[in-house]
Amino acid sequence: MPELGKYTKELKKLIEDSGHILLICHINPDGDAIGAMLALRRWIISRGKEARMISPNALQKFLLWMNDVDQIVDFHHNTGEGTRLINEADLIIMVDFNTTSRMGKAEPLVTASAAKKVMIDHHPDPATFADIVISDVSRSSTSELVYFLVNGMEGSEFNDSEFITAVYVGIITDTGNFEHGYYTGDTMRTVGHLLDMGVDKEKVYNHVFCNFSPDRIRLKGFSLHSRMVVHPELHTAYIWLTREDLEKFNHVKGDTEGFANVLLTMNGIVLSVLFVERSGFVKMSLRSKGSFNANELSRKCFNGGGHRNAAGGEMKGTIHEVVSHFENTLPSFSRELKEAAEEMLG
Ligand code: 5GP
Ligand code: MN
Repeated sequence: MPELGKYTKELKKLIEDSGHILLICHINPDGDAIGAMLALRRWIISRGKEARMISPNALQKFLLWMNDVDQIVDFHHNTGEGTRLINEADLIIMVDFNTTSRMGKAEPLVTASAAKKVMIDHHPDPATFADIVISDVSRSSTSELVYFLVNGMEGSEFNDSEFITAVYVGIITDTGNFEHGYYTGDTMRTVGHLLDMGVDKEKVYNHVFCNFSPDRIRLKGFSLHSRMVVHPELHTAYIWLTREDLEKFNHVKGDTEGFANVLLTMNGIVLSVLFVERSGFVKMSLRSKGSFNANELSRKCFNGGGHRNAAGGEMKGTIHEVVSHFENTLPSFSRELKEAAEEMLG
């Protein structure tokens, strides 16, 4: 765990000295990316400064209730405004990602910008493209890290209702409401403070986790019933969905969120993958238990990345080509899969 005191001083000075501050999160932003960005912006504006925000593409519906999301520029749909913001920025703060490619089409502009750059993140193996890299893999979420950084800069607990809500959204998203991920005593103490300060946990839970359509629930049933493959000997299970499957259930972005996690509730399973066919490529979500490194498998097999127990990637080809590539690669991980499964049973 890095010493945050050093960073809070540096970050505070950079924020105070900058005229045009820009925050940017990763493509397909989750609740942590948006939570961290909104939380940090909230503190910056409390200091009398402005901070603009960019997301490389559109936000999912489950985040649209959050305060100030209408201030986030969707770079994909509003490239002109996004380009202007990047070009005029003298400080760019990147949250919740560790490689520049996660900025999508905004990547070349941001990397070419002469602005000072700060990266705030909790993914392993951060790239060193920023002037200041505040990376702490021991945090449940970037939002938790932002909570500590902001309180360090504030010099006391920053008690602001939008700030505490945004931090809470990030923490519950990245831990699946404390079901998985890297939450620690620090996370729970943070949550304790957030509750003391009055965060509306029911409201946030309902917005983030209870917003599904009937079609989405049916798609989940179909996936588990008709598209699930289990390899007990390799402690692995996966779901594969074609474009036609998605169309049949009127799929909208975010509908398959959480499907991979369900497979890990099966006895003896330590690796789960969800393959979703898109046009010309397949997007995959990997989840694992214990020592099995989904990040490494994703890097090797799909040129992807992520955390040890939650990773993702994408690969060109049809769903059948990509699944067969996975099936061919999987046995080379059999020792690691077996070890993780044995550890699980203690
Ligand atoms: P999810 O399965 O929820 O989309 O992503 C799980 C984790 O993997 C997240 O921490 C995310 O940052 C990472 N991830 C997802 N897709 C990709 C990808 O295409 N490339 C890389 N490097 N990481 C990804
Ligand atoms: Mn995160």
